[in-house]
Amino acid sequence: MNTKELDTKYVLPTYARADVEFVSGDNARLVDADGKKYIDFTSGIAVCSVGHANKRVNNAICKQIANITHISNLYYTAPQAKAAQKIVEASGYDMKCFFGNSGAEANEGAIKIARKFGENDGEVKRYKIITLQHSFHGRTITTVKATGQASMHNYFGPFPDGFVYADNIAQIESLLDNHTCAVMIELVQGEGGVQPLEKQAVQDLAKLLKSKNILLIVDEVQTGVYRMGEFLASNLYEITPDVITLAKGLGGGVPIGVVMTGLKDIFNAGDHGSTFGGNYLSATAACEVVDILSEMHASGVLAKNIAYFDSELEKFYSAHKDIFTSKVGIGMMCGLRVKDAKTLADLITNARAEGVMVLKAGRDTLRLLPALTITKEEIDEGFISLERAVSSL
Ligand SMILES: *Cc1c(COP(=O)(O)O)cnc(C)c1O
Repeated sequence: MNTKELDTKYVLPTYARADVEFVSGDNARLVDADGKKYIDFTSGIAVCSVGHANKRVNNAICKQIANITHISNLYYTAPQAKAAQKIVEASGYDMKCFFGNSGAEANEGAIKIARKFGENDGEVKRYKIITLQHSFHGRTITTVKATGQASMHNYFGPFPDGFVYADNIAQIESLLDNHTCAVMIELVQGEGGVQPLEKQAVQDLAKLLKSKNILLIVDEVQTGVYRMGEFLASNLYEITPDVITLAKGLGGGVPIGVVMTGLKDIFNAGDHGSTFGGNYLSATAACEVVDILSEMHASGVLAKNIAYFDSELEKFYSAHKDIFTSKVGIGMMCGLRVKDAKTLADLITNARAEGVMVLKAGRDTLRLLPALTITKEEIDEGFISLERAVSSL
């Protein structure tokens, strides 16, 4: 049986997979099982932040796993301690980290922090967490309930209580009560359609929550690790959240999730844990990824890559205002709103046929999440293919 047949026979059908199988990659280039070449504007949904088959990450991982891959969190692990130091230092915040394996798990950790904070701090037990409509926080029973998309709340109940959805950031204040322990937001909604929140509104919210002793959790699973040009979107928005979660881009393809918080004493031994979280393999990958990207940030190469991608996207958008209604996003988390869902679906199919991989977000957004290491040549080739995809609509 070929891969598609095996998958169909043995893998649960939770994904509407595109009919393509990639067998190798090199930075923003991909090759499929038929030998066809592509430019990747998805980077595995913002995961392969330093590109496919990154030599520095691969060398670091290989060197590490030749010695030891895993021993559990019952013992000290040097790469985990170093990864925590690099993450905290890059963030500029006075925080500590907990390591898990995914974005959902990182958010579970954030929710546990908020609930413990609400248990201990104040007269009544506070448990309510306010999230936004169109948000996305994960697929576990708790994080799917935290996600403000009613279509994802079918079948799986009863869900944990205490999640309240605000229509928008302005509505949050009216939903705060003496049972509220936290507000959880993405600064740029990813799955919801590449939707940045307004900076002043976020700063006002942060101030309001501080004055009411309510935690601000920022889900940076997609926005974090230099995707916006700074280490965190929170840095760009010039706020200091109480809790931040990271995952996608952090391990360069190796599964890892982090919840970091300034509430350094919130957990005692036994309050939270993970078998795999931050083991030698994933933490080594994270150390190398953060090193590579912080060097690119310091040298100005990252800003240059972002500016070039943005200028090409702007040109492409300007040339096709009959199809696209606006250009959205920040940094390398960007996209174009498409006039209707059918055109978007056709465009994504055409793009693949023309050799460029792109994503959908929300109902009508063409989403682009290239590797932060993408080269000028790769960007140029990708947009030439996108042009062809538009011509054949
Ligand atoms: C992808 C994503 C998640 C979920 O991450 P998983 O690793 O799939 O569990 C959570 N929050 C945001 C903002 C995301 O983009």
